[in-house]
Amino acid sequence: MKHLLSIEDLSREGIERILDRAASFAEVAGREIKKVPALRGRTVVNLFYEASTRTQSSFELAAKRLSADVVSIKSTGSSVEKGESLKDTIQTLSSYDPAAIVIRSPQVGAADLVARWSPAAVINAGDGKHEHPTQALLDVYTLRQAMGDLDGRKIWIVGDVLHSRVARSNILAFRRMGADVTLSGPPTLIPRGIEALGCEVETTLDRLPEADVVYALRMQRERMTQAFVPTLREYAERYQVNAARLGPDQLLMHPGPVNRGVELSADVIDSPQALIGRQVEAGVVVRMAVLYELLAGSAAPVGVTDDALAPAEALR
Ligand code: ASP
Repeated sequence: MKHLLSIEDLSREGIERILDRAASFAEVAGREIKKVPALRGRTVVNLFYEASTRTQSSFELAAKRLSADVVSIKSTGSSVEKGESLKDTIQTLSSYDPAAIVIRSPQVGAADLVARWSPAAVINAGDGKHEHPTQALLDVYTLRQAMGDLDGRKIWIVGDVLHSRVARSNILAFRRMGADVTLSGPPTLIPRGIEALGCEVETTLDRLPEADVVYALRMQRERMTQAFVPTLREYAERYQVNAARLGPDQLLMHPGPVNRGVELSADVIDSPQALIGRQVEAGVVVRMAVLYELLAGSAAPVGVTDDALAPAEALR
């Protein structure tokens, strides 16, 4: 695999391979010195044209823990603010001969364009409302750790599906791993024809108790060009996942950032059923695994005995 642009690029075996490798990197994360020499001498460029806390920091940490040289660029404070186009920016950064470019952009298809313009491996870290494949991988990883295989599990994705790249990537990934996926939200926030991805659609939470996992989405106000719900209060009344709606055996996920009191109530965010902190933790090891898969090659062994996982002492 040269790039990771969409979950569609991955078979079930491909996903499992990345997640198994991520599990072996979790051992590295437990060490005092959390660094391995796998990508020593390679350069990773992180190019973020949109706000990010978790994705940006975890990609940076992942590349550093693999000993790559990392350049992180945000649109604010860079020449992008001066009007430099994406194509010119990629051309400029190509002078550093990066092995990988990680890109987040508000434009659908931006990562595909970068893959055409640059010889580097390209990772889509979110392109508009299209896809966010590494989020889906870390979510599957988190669920596998929490409940084992996803075959036959019922996962409900609740909220603003229309503007959510996470929803699109996660539907594809959860389906590929054998789960049953149901979407629920106001009809104005469910894209028409989304059932074609193999999921069901509900416009109430009446059947929510059937879910093994409830995956809440953020209301993406920055992408809303019109009023999709009357008010956030009314939205919360009908669709907020709260202690009254979440059963004691259901697992709760959210990609972050959470709008407390809108899609989730404070009591469920801080409940033991919430995997939100574990999703963030998984972000580092899964992104290490993706970088490793693309840059060190899928032929590399998965196990912890791999040379690339030699202790940090090997770096000295
Ligand atoms: N952090 C995720 C994303 O970048 C989800 C969100 O922003 O709501 O798509």
